[in-house]
Amino acid sequence: MSRIYNFSSGPAIFPEWVLKKAQQEMLEYNNSGQSVIEMSHRSMEFATILSACEQDLRDLMNISDDYHVLFIQGGASLQFSMIPLNLAKNKVEIIHTGEWTKKAYTEHRKIVDTKIIASSENENFTYIPEITSSMIDKEADYLYICQNNTIYGSCYNKLPETPIPLVADLSSMILSEPINVNNYGLIFAGAQKNMGPAGICIVIIRKDLIKDNDNLPTMLNYKTYIDSKSLFNTPPTYTIYLCGLIFRWLKEKIGGLDKMKNINEEKATLLYNCLDQSKLFIPKVKKEYRSLMNVTFTTNSKDLDNMFVSKAKEAGLINLNGHSLVGGMRASIYNAMTIDGVQTLVEFLKNFEVKYG
Ligand SMILES: *Cc1c(COP(=O)(O)O)cnc(C)c1O
Repeated sequence: MSRIYNFSSGPAIFPEWVLKKAQQEMLEYNNSGQSVIEMSHRSMEFATILSACEQDLRDLMNISDDYHVLFIQGGASLQFSMIPLNLAKNKVEIIHTGEWTKKAYTEHRKIVDTKIIASSENENFTYIPEITSSMIDKEADYLYICQNNTIYGSCYNKLPETPIPLVADLSSMILSEPINVNNYGLIFAGAQKNMGPAGICIVIIRKDLIKDNDNLPTMLNYKTYIDSKSLFNTPPTYTIYLCGLIFRWLKEKIGGLDKMKNINEEKATLLYNCLDQSKLFIPKVKKEYRSLMNVTFTTNSKDLDNMFVSKAKEAGLINLNGHSLVGGMRASIYNAMTIDGVQTLVEFLKNFEVKYG
């Protein structure tokens, strides 16, 4: 068996340790006589899996008791509606940095008065707009951002200073580096980029932001998940188990988020240096806003870009095509991508340039 290098933006590469562990435990989990897939979500065994999963995430991200950690289905996209339904009473402000804030804006507008206070659309989302505190309306319920823009490959290098709570989509960067959770009112992330298989979204929310919203549909109300400890209905049990294994891998095999950040910086530096030195490949995002997770680049020739993607695939480097909206190339180098994988890509880029540049 030989595993290929998968640069997909999501669902994405998994740590091999996690896949092997899941394989070992597939038929029988921990002397229970059954697979996790078959377990009742009300069983003691599953209760242990769920609470260990939450505790490990709290340990990794240093999440204080001031915050709830919720496991909710519907992907990150459901949060585009759930957040305003639960937290918006008056109006919301948003910084527009790409497709995922566009989608969040579209859903927000159906629910609450929502204003774009800054945008990088004028330069094709190749940077993050700088904002100052005075640009933010203190009457608004929260400021919404997408901290790492999966499609364009841009990332905030510092958080906006805001007098109102910050709500952030961290889908493609959660657990890639330490963050200070206390700077946020709400963090959410779909699992399938850096945290687990598709099918779950993790929401970390400051307790004082929760209001009584008895009129909301039950499944769209954060209180339902808080009161039931994410067990109001059947959660995606196996997905939660796999997220838990990823958290254990980060804690025990990697050694925490500081170490993970070092590895991620090493990988991103290898790749960006190669692109910056190249005369063929052009990185798309301005240096100070480059993502550690999603590296976007192009040759500025559609034909050559297509050839690159297909030759790379033949060489065992898959899913290097950019998002269909933007074209070019994108290498997603999430936590599970090894340094070895990035080195192999860098060699491939250099050889391709010699041949076709
Ligand atoms: C992938 C992604 C989403 C959407 O996630 P789904 O789970 O498919 O709804 C939202 N925001 C960002 C930043 C993403 O990368």
